[in-house]
This record gives sequence, structure tokens and C-alpha cells, in this order.
Amino acid sequence: MKIAILSRNPKLYSTRRLADAAKERGHEVQVLDHLRCYMNITSMRPSIHYKGETLDGFDAVIPRIGASVTFYGTAVLRQFEMMGVYPLNESVAISRSRDKLRSIQLLARKGIGLPVTGFARNPDDIDDLLNSVGGEQFVIKLLEGTQGIGVVLAENKKAAESVIEAFFGLNANILVQEFIKEAGGSDIRCLVVDGKVVAAMKRQGKEGEFRSNLHRGGSAEVVRITPEERSTAVRAAAIMGLNVAGVDLLRSNHGPLVMEVNSSPGLEGIERATGKDVAGMIIGCIEKNAKSGRTKTRGR
Ligand code: ADP
Ligand code: GLU
Repeated sequence: MKIAILSRNPKLYSTRRLADAAKERGHEVQVLDHLRCYMNITSMRPSIHYKGETLDGFDAVIPRIGASVTFYGTAVLRQFEMMGVYPLNESVAISRSRDKLRSIQLLARKGIGLPVTGFARNPDDIDDLLNSVGGEQFVIKLLEGTQGIGVVLAENKKAAESVIEAFFGLNANILVQEFIKEAGGSDIRCLVVDGKVVAAMKRQGKEGEFRSNLHRGGSAEVVRITPEERSTAVRAAAIMGLNVAGVDLLRSNHGPLVMEVNSSPGLEGIERATGKDVAGMIIGCIEKNAKSGRTKTRGR
């Protein structure tokens, strides 16, 4: 097969691993910077151009679109879909997963366990919002944040109010969550590929840090997950419409709670922690599912 990888940087671990795994399995691979793809969308034959050349003959495309360029990146991916190229994850599913609030609403609708979450826009509603979320401590999240930046723990209601006021003052969208203290500064990352959890790791925040992000100095180790955690992760990925997803769970007193579903999960941490060939399994998923012209958007 001829496989395109949409990535800003061919040297990134995940991009390299996916490219190498595809080549090892006998495929032709081209890494494309999606910001250098340009398109003619009005013609009868949708096409994509790259540095003066017309892109042609691809069977599958692996999107590795960074959060900051979701808008343009998903437009490029959509154009591949219009051309009948099989996307590992569809553009509509990626857009959906990039919106934390929308994701939570969709998961809640299907009965997935989530931390109690509130959302408001007007400062006059903060008091009522905090009461409805309940508890002593609150986690406040910038909707546009990634890698743990813009996630704040407020130790009490007064602190939460001032943090929320500050974010509102900056015109930022935020959500407020109950603090799952019993998770102890750790979370579980489940890597879902084609309806199965193929690898899982436990991430632990550094001493005194409630955020477990590796980018915030957290550490990772392989973990055995429970059947309930496994099925929650698989269901969350399916609800989002993602073939490949990193599902982050918090271990709470009342079972696994989904915190986030990531459509471009990094491979370095999970491959190092588990020793598994996740990149190879992702290429295997493409081999199983890619058929030219098979792309149908699941957006409903
Ligand atoms: P980001 O998308 O920026 O990584 P997350 O929502 O995943 O933001 O939060 C970052 C980290 O903060 C999580 O990995 C987790 O360790 C911690 N965290 C987030 N929400 C909660 C919560 N409601 N209760 C306890 N810890 C949380
Ligand atoms: N099916 C619609 C869409 O994905 C709405 C569901 C959602 O918000 O994802 O565009």
C-alpha cells in the first residue's frame, strides 16, 4: 500500500516509528507536512497539491495533527477522504475529540463514567456552578489546553472562584470538575487500536503534583487494567468514532472515569513503558481496514 503520514516533523518519535513500521511491512510511505498541502476543492476531481506536485495514488492516510493546527489539518484530511483515501482516524472524529466539552457531552450521553463536570460563561453563575459540581476541591481546565497546561487545582471554593474569574477575564472557556483525590496524582493511559486496548500504562505525577502528564515531569510504568477499565476505554474510543485513541482514565472510588480521549496519542511513552510494538499494530489496523473508496464519514 501507499500510505501518507500527515505530520509537521518526520523526526518526531511517533512519526518515525509509524513510517518505519509501515516500511518494514512492505508499504510505501510519504511523510507530508499538512500545512504545506494545498487543495482545489471546487473541481469535479478533488485534489491535493504538495510543493508543486499533485498527490496521487494513496491508499491510506495517518493523521498526526497537532492541537494547534486542528482546523487546517482536518481540512486537509477531509480532502483525502473526499478522494477516497482511508483515514486511520476520520476528520470529523478528530474535530470532535479536540473539543473537550463536546467529548464529555457525547460520552455522558452514552453513560460513560466521567468526573462531575460543570460549564458556565457568566461570572454571576460561578457560585451556583461550584455548588452543583460539589466537593471541597475543584479542578479547573482551560478548554483549549493540552499537556496539562491550563489545568489548575483549586483547594477550596474561594480559590476556585478567583481562578475562574481570572480565566473569564481573559475570555477563556473553562470547565470545572470534581477533584478525584483518590487517583493520587496518577492516571491510566489506554491505547486503543481497532476496538482493543493493545497497551496500557500508569502515569504518576512527580512528588506534590496532581497532574500526571509526562510533559509535566510525570513517570510511566506498565499496568494491568481491570476488565471494566478495558471496556470503558474501548467504548469511549468507539463513541468518539476513533480507530486509534489514547483514552485517559482516573481510578476513582466508583470505578474508572474517562478524562480525555486523544486522537493522536504519542507512542514514545507507551512503547517504552510496555515494550509493545504499537506502531506495528496501527499499521496492521490499516492493512485490515483500508480499501480504496471505503471512507464513509461517521459524523451524525
Ligand atoms: P490535558 O489534556 O492538558 O493533559 P487533562 O484533563 O488530561 O489535561 O489533565 C491533566 C492531568 O491532571 C491529568 O492527567 C490528571 O492527572 C490530572 N487531572 C485532570 N482532571 C482531574 C480530576 N478531575 N481529578 C483529579 N486529577 C485530574
Ligand atoms: N454527529 C455530529 C458531529 O460529529 C454531532 C456529534 C458530535 O458532536 O460529535 O459532527
